[in-house]
Amino acid sequence: MNSPARLPRAPAPERRWELVSGRSRSADGQFVYAVRTTGIYCRPSCSARRPLRDNVEFYETPALARAAGYRACLRCHPDAAMSSGSELIRVLCAHLDACPDASLAELAKLAQKSPSHTHREFKRATGLTPGQYAREVRSQKLRAELSRGSPVARAGYAAGYGSSSRLYTSPSGALGMEPSRYKRGAEAITIRFATCPTSLGELLLGRTERGVCAVSLGEDPRDLERELAREFPKAELIRDDDALKQELTLIVAFVASEAALPDLPLDLRGSLFQKRVWNLLRQIPAGQTATYAELAEKLGQPTAARAVARACATNPVALLVPCHRVIRSSGELAGYRYGLSRKKALLEREAERASASDRSDLKGRAAQLKRPSRGRS
Ligand SMILES: [Zn+2]
Repeated sequence: MNSPARLPRAPAPERRWELVSGRSRSADGQFVYAVRTTGIYCRPSCSARRPLRDNVEFYETPALARAAGYRACLRCHPDAAMSSGSELIRVLCAHLDACPDASLAELAKLAQKSPSHTHREFKRATGLTPGQYAREVRSQKLRAELSRGSPVARAGYAAGYGSSSRLYTSPSGALGMEPSRYKRGAEAITIRFATCPTSLGELLLGRTERGVCAVSLGEDPRDLERELAREFPKAELIRDDDALKQELTLIVAFVASEAALPDLPLDLRGSLFQKRVWNLLRQIPAGQTATYAELAEKLGQPTAARAVARACATNPVALLVPCHRVIRSSGELAGYRYGLSRKKALLEREAERASASDRSDLKGRAAQLKRPSRGRS
């Protein structure tokens, strides 16, 4: 194989074969199947006669099938199966999962859109640029390889870092530390933390040198501290009220509805899927809500509402990643790790603040209208 980056995603070939056998329309855009004897690839629902199972290969995207030397079927037009927006994002993500080295030009070709349009749509849907997404993919693969015990160089190669030097060239890149240090179990990060009272109970904030990694709410600061130690079992925890005073002040003011949500640097640790969800949550404006289903749709995985709900429930940074702004499609508030009454209070406060600022906007506009309308037609 000439491309080290091409790692198959955990495939379920037998499931795929079932979908192909059943000519499943809902599977269109999820993958294509290629037939060795004809050299042609098709969408799962293609009406062509089914080949023998032994002659079939599956590819995540049409581009991968083409790269393997197959031609698109003229009957089912597999390349067009991903013309709808969310489908397209899903296909682009799948392509980057398999080939994190893919260029923007390559993605744009896949999307049959201009590079700038592709870039914009991708960012809008995932909260990440294609480049950031690809870096995440590589870094996740690298972590997985290293924790499986692979030697650093081989892990880097398998994760799509062409040469191991690229592992070291960007300090904030792959792991936020040298791979060898990571491999030695140096997940042993240092977390400075502090707690303080807010109008919604006690709040704990934890920060690594890269950004805020934990925000939680509760009744008893000692419980919050124990929870932090459970979530970061290998970390060195240092209580440091002085160092975190500024962050705490900003968040307390937000909870009290006296200020907008501060935009603090974050250090989020989770799977790629979790990070994508958390990024989307940060795009929900204050005073508004989204449903799990809407977020799943935006991620290009409309059937993943439950996985989205799980990602919300495991959000390590309450408030700053506003998982409280997600509700059920029925309009129910659903759960909140830090208590439903806190979620309700937060939503009410944000809605009030948003409508207050709308009102002052309106007043501003009204004042403008009252001014003599010189020069207006
Ligand atoms: Zn076909």
